[in-house]
Amino acid sequence: MVGSLFSRFSAGQQQPAPRENWAGNITYSTDAVGIPANVDEVREMVKKCHELRALGTRHSFNTIADSTRNQISLQRLQDITVDDKTKTATVGGGVKYGQLAPVIEARGFALHNLASLPHISVAGAIATATHGSGFHNGNLATAVSGLEIVTANGEVVRLSRRKDGEQFSGAVVGLGALGVVTRVSLDLQPTFQVAQTVYRDLSFDQLQHHFDEIFGGGYSVSLFTDWQNHRATQVWIKRRIAAGDKNEWPQEFFGAKRATEKLHPIDGHPAESCTEQQGIPGPWFERLPHFKMNFTPSSGRELQTEYFVPRDRGYEAILAVEKLRDRITPHLFVTELRTIAADELWMSTAYRRPSLALHFTWKPEWPDVSKILPLIEAQLEPFSPRPHWGKLFTIPPARLQTQYARLADFKGLVKRFDPDGKFRNEFLNANLYAS
Ligand SMILES: Cc1cc2nc3c(=O)[nH]c(=O)nc-3n(C[C@H](O)[C@H](O)[C@H](O)COP(=O)(O)OP(=O)(O)OC[C@H]3O[C@@H](n4cnc5c(N)ncnc54)[C@H](O)[C@@H]3O)c2cc1C
Repeated sequence: MVGSLFSRFSAGQQQPAPRENWAGNITYSTDAVGIPANVDEVREMVKKCHELRALGTRHSFNTIADSTRNQISLQRLQDITVDDKTKTATVGGGVKYGQLAPVIEARGFALHNLASLPHISVAGAIATATHGSGFHNGNLATAVSGLEIVTANGEVVRLSRRKDGEQFSGAVVGLGALGVVTRVSLDLQPTFQVAQTVYRDLSFDQLQHHFDEIFGGGYSVSLFTDWQNHRATQVWIKRRIAAGDKNEWPQEFFGAKRATEKLHPIDGHPAESCTEQQGIPGPWFERLPHFKMNFTPSSGRELQTEYFVPRDRGYEAILAVEKLRDRITPHLFVTELRTIAADELWMSTAYRRPSLALHFTWKPEWPDVSKILPLIEAQLEPFSPRPHWGKLFTIPPARLQTQYARLADFKGLVKRFDPDGKFRNEFLNANLYAS
């Protein structure tokens, strides 16, 4: 595919596409970015390209969205339709959660969950199994009930959870490998209110005997830690509040003390960018993310890593990582620990495994961080860690591949949708296909 064709498609309409990811740690390997206006233009581009990668809102921290030839951004596919009868919303490939939320709220609906920030695209988030939080909540991809994909020959394929069973389960967390997702349908539920309260200083000792009670202590519970002093510095509890509920919060939660002021997860950072706390109820989309839509979560210069381990071994895994605290803390902004329900999506990090996520927001110090990751991965090795597909990791491909029981089936599906590897890139070659 040559750049001139892309210019033709986007003439006069193309917004300058930044050639870095959100965090600025990756510079994409091509300047050719097509920005189609509709599905027909997507089809035409796909047909004419030999190599192509879909690009979302550029929030991944690794090269999963990169291409040495062509990228395609669906930022102009912004349609949102809501079906009251089937309780689904169908969104164009460029729609972000922050755009969708107020639209469905106005119709009396909610999504089951949102990531820590609403700025990411739906299509990009589900492609990497983004964000689980809550004992009983699957990640964002589990809300998908239908997909429209432009496959390698330019054909439009529609898959639904109801009709396409296995194939659908393989396609949702697609890692960008199956084609360009032009529309996504999502399950909705009646809108709900959430109240959020933060507690300070929860000893890790409490997790030994109360792990499930602590992580099950709300609709979604996050523990933040700097790994020092054997404790979580903060516990963020988000609870659904139904009409008639008392919305009372005890002073203590397993020994942690209720905060008397609004807090940022990183101690000492100003909390104005954070969603409301102190038990003040509000709509789901203004409480489930940690950060407000109109704010950048931090300076924007950070790196992220996240590993998923079996929840029933979560406490052991935390202790294993804690051994590295003096290596980790100097390079860390903060760690977040969350639980996620198991799901049936083949390439999901929570496939058939209720999980604990150990998440690291690092300072932008890759030379140091890149040396720490193998140490963390070695500590987590006994727990068969699965790394977040959109974040930084160094687990060798052969080891990574053993974590996915349906990998061979997934590759079979990829082969059917993309026989000549049009949507393959270095990231997929290295992690899924190299041994
Ligand atoms: C500040 C920040 C906070 C974050 N918070 C969280 C969090 O709370 N929880 C969490 O789990 N993750 C989090 N992430 C990670 C992020 O959610 C994932 O990396 C997600 O995949 C990014 O989506 P995106 O739209 O930016 O996609 P990109 O990063 O642009 O692309 C990701 C993948 O999706 C594919 N893709 C994108 N659009 C399409 C399409 N239309 N068709 C087919 N494939 C497509 C790409 O090819 C690529 O493989 C965070 C990232 C940042 C920068």
